[in-house]
Amino acid sequence: MSEYKRLKCPKCQNENPRMLHEEPDKKNVLYYSMQGTPVYATKMKCGKCGMIFDK
Ligand SMILES: [Zn+2]
Repeated sequence: MSEYKRLKCPKCQNENPRMLHEEPDKKNVLYYSMQGTPVYATKMKCGKCGMIFDK
């Protein structure tokens, strides 16, 4: 990782990276790999309040 953007939950202001998890957004397919598996866009999920938000 060359660039690390500081992330913060917009709901509870949690910015502990260990409490923020990347989640695949299954409604948002970026592209299909050569094997035909969909690659999804990712969103962030707050482990504290459950809020899902864009990076
Ligand atoms: Zn939160």
